[in-house]
Parts: sequence; C-alpha cells; structure tokens
Amino acid sequence: MMFGMKRLMTEWQVGDGREARLADYVVERARRGNAADVIRTIDEYGYNESFLINVGDEKGLILDAAVARANAGLILELGTYCGYSALRMAVAAPTARIVSIEFKQANAQIARRILEHAGVSDRVTIVVGTLGDGGATVQALRNSHGFETGSVDMAFIDHAKDAYLPDLQLILDNGWLRHGSLVVADNVKVPGAPEYQAYMREKEGKFWHTVEHETHVEYQSVIKDLVLVSEYLGGPRTASN
Ligand code: MG
Repeated sequence: MMFGMKRLMTEWQVGDGREARLADYVVERARRGNAADVIRTIDEYGYNESFLINVGDEKGLILDAAVARANAGLILELGTYCGYSALRMAVAAPTARIVSIEFKQANAQIARRILEHAGVSDRVTIVVGTLGDGGATVQALRNSHGFETGSVDMAFIDHAKDAYLPDLQLILDNGWLRHGSLVVADNVKVPGAPEYQAYMREKEGKFWHTVEHETHVEYQSVIKDLVLVSEYLGGPRTASN
C-alpha cells in the first residue's frame, strides 16, 4: 500500500487510473439504485482489483455505528475520494444530508458518478475545495449548504493527515458542532495523525470524550490502524477548546 504515496499526497489519486476505472467497474457491475450493492462492489474492487484508500468494510462498521449513534441529520465529510464513505454514511443514516469536501475535481467527478449510480445524489453533495483555503469553502458551506450554529451532527475526517487538527479547529471556530456531535477520524495510526490524537487525549473529559478503536488499514488484515470516535462535550462557540 506504500506505492505512490508521495503522489497520493499531492494528487489524491494513485496515478495508475484505478480511481476512474473504479467508477466504470461500479457502473458496469453494481445494480443501479442499490446503494448496498455499490458498497459491496467497491469493496470487491478494493480487495480483488486495485487497493483503494477508502475507509473500507472493516473500519466502515465503526463509521456506520457512529452515524447511527449521532442520529445524524447533517454530516460533514472532509475527503470524499471516490465517495465510498459518503455512500456508507448515506445508507447508515437514510434521511441525513451529507456534504463532502474534496480537494480534487477529478475525484469529485468520479465520486459523483458512483453516488449517482447508487441513487443517493439527492442527499450527498460534493463541494470541491478545502476548509483551510482562507474562507471560500467555509462561506460556501454557510451560504449554500445550510451550515449554521450547532447544525452539524457528525463530521468524518479522512483527508490530509496534517490538516485534521487545523480543520477541526475551523469547524469549532465556526460553531457548527453542538453538544453531543460526533467527530470520527480515520487513519490516526496509518499514515497517522499524531497531533490530532494528542489533542483528543489532552482534552479528554473536558471538551471531548474519545474512544480509540483499534482496527486495520483498509482491505487487508496485517497493518493496524486507529479510528477515533469523539463526542463533543462543549456547546457551539466554546472559545478555548
Ligand atoms: Mg482513510
């Protein structure tokens, strides 16, 4: 899985066209309008065709449980990639609206094709950008996607690992979380988000209550990973967290 890591971190695609081929594979093989079959087909591709940096089926169960627990109406995702986790969340929360931020236009197009095939395009919106772009993406969320004080029931963080903590801070600064909102973070062990993990440990019992789930990197059972599920204990606009 360490192939093309450098390229992956700049282009957010592996570089051999596997992401675009995934969309073709899904459209050809998964039953149209059947989200569960699309999820199954992406997992099949990740195991048998080309490794994908989706959250995958094992860690996906942790994500599904968090979505159900959050009783989510509005979910913010950071890092769409090919749309797999957005789709999983749409299935786990059948009435939720999901806004997923993706840095790369090419990935957004692939994800939109997959989500459309799965029949969830009316509830999943992909915004091309990044929260840390100086304001454009934050403004778009506020002005066009209904992000208001305390409106976000859950956030799933799965993008650039060094952006986890600064982007969580932006979410807090905007007051989007409410008491009891959940924030789920993938890949805290591999590739690793040590600052984020240290922050959650430092704030444990004060602003956050976190469960660290020991699991495995997607689509294999050897390399270990951590998924953090953190419940926000503050209210909107807590200045000092
Ligand atoms: Mg991930």
